[in-house]
Amino acid sequence: MSSIIQLLPDHVANQIAAGEVVQRPASVVKELLENAVDAKATDIKLIIKDAGKSLVQVIDNGLGMSVTDARLCFERHATSKIRQAEDLFSLCTKGFRGEALASIAAIAHMEMKTKQDQEELGTHIVIEGSKFVSQEVAVLPKGTSFAVKNLFFNIPARRNFLKSDTVEFRHVMDEFQRVALAHPNIHFTFYHNGSELYNLPIAGYRQRIVGIMSGKTNEKLVPVNEDTEIINVQGFVSKPEFAKKNRGEQFFFVNDRFIKSGYLHHAVMAAYDGLLKDGCQPSYFLYLQVPPNTIDINIHPTKTEIKFDDEQALYAILRASIKHSLGQFNVSPVLDFDR
Ligand code: ADP
Ligand code: MG
Repeated sequence: MSSIIQLLPDHVANQIAAGEVVQRPASVVKELLENAVDAKATDIKLIIKDAGKSLVQVIDNGLGMSVTDARLCFERHATSKIRQAEDLFSLCTKGFRGEALASIAAIAHMEMKTKQDQEELGTHIVIEGSKFVSQEVAVLPKGTSFAVKNLFFNIPARRNFLKSDTVEFRHVMDEFQRVALAHPNIHFTFYHNGSELYNLPIAGYRQRIVGIMSGKTNEKLVPVNEDTEIINVQGFVSKPEFAKKNRGEQFFFVNDRFIKSGYLHHAVMAAYDGLLKDGCQPSYFLYLQVPPNTIDINIHPTKTEIKFDDEQALYAILRASIKHSLGQFNVSPVLDFDR
C-alpha cells in the first residue's frame, strides 16, 4: 500500500498558520508593535493607510537584527526569545512563538529594513507571499522598520471578509492603545492617512492614560497601590460618579501585557459594591506585576488570556486594594498624587 500522508511545503504551512495569527490589519499592528517593544525600542512609530488595509508600518529604534537574523526572522518557529520550553515560565517578552513574521510574510507584501547599533550597514529585505524578492545591504538608522502592504493579497476570501475602514480602524486603535498604555516609558507616534493621531512622550502611567483617553480623564482617576509577595498592583480606577453605561475604558495589564479577565473584572466590580448606579461601569487601568512563573501565557493564540496559579488570592487582593483606594479618596482627596 502506498502512503498518502505528506508534509506540507513551508509556504503552505505558513499560510495556514497565518489564518490564526493574522485576522485583520490590527493583528499585524499588534505583532509588529510587540516586536518593537521586545527589541527594547524607546521610540516607536506606527503608520497606517486605509485602516491598515493598504499599509501597516512600524518603525523602531530598537536593537535591530544582524544580516543572518534579518533573514531567519521570517522562518516559522524562529525566535530569539525562548530556547527551551521551561523559558515559557520566566518570560519577559511579548513574543515567544516565532510565528508572527512568518505568518504575515506568507499573506502580504513585506519590506524590512534593519540595522544594529554597532554595525555600519543594515539589511533591506523584500518578501512577498513567503518568497524572498530581494536582499540588499543598505545605509540605515539604528533599529527596524517593517512595512506590510496588500494584506491577504493571495487569500481573496480573507480580504473580502475585512470590514469597513471604520471598523478595521477601530481594531487598530484598540491594539495601539493597549500597547501604548502598557509602555509609558516608550515614545509612541501614530499616523493614519498622513495625519498624526497621537504623539505620546515618555511619561508615567497617569500622564500616558490621560494622553490616550483625553484630558478629561485626569480628574476621574483614583490611584491604586498595593504590594504583596504574590502581586504588585498599580494604576487607577475611576471615581464612582464618573461611571458610564458602557465598558469602554477597562484595562488589565499583567507584566506589561494587556489581558482580558472576566474574573478580575468581577473583583473590580465587587470593590465598587454599592457605589455605582444601576448598570454603570467604572473605568480602570490596572497594572499587575506577578512572578512570571506564576502565570501561563501560552493558553490562547492572541495571548490576551492567561492562567494564574492563585486566582482567588489575586481576586481578594485586587478587590481590597481598590476598595481601600476608593475609601481613601472619599476621606482625603489630597492623596490623589501623581506618580
Ligand atoms: P517572536 O516575537 O515570537 O519571537 P516573531 O515572528 O514576531 O516571533 O519575530 C521573530 C524574531 O525576529 C524575534 O524573535 C526577533 O529576534 C526578531 N525581530 C522581530 N521584530 C524585530 C524588531 N522590530 N527588532 C529586532 N528584532 C526583531
Ligand atoms: Mg513577535
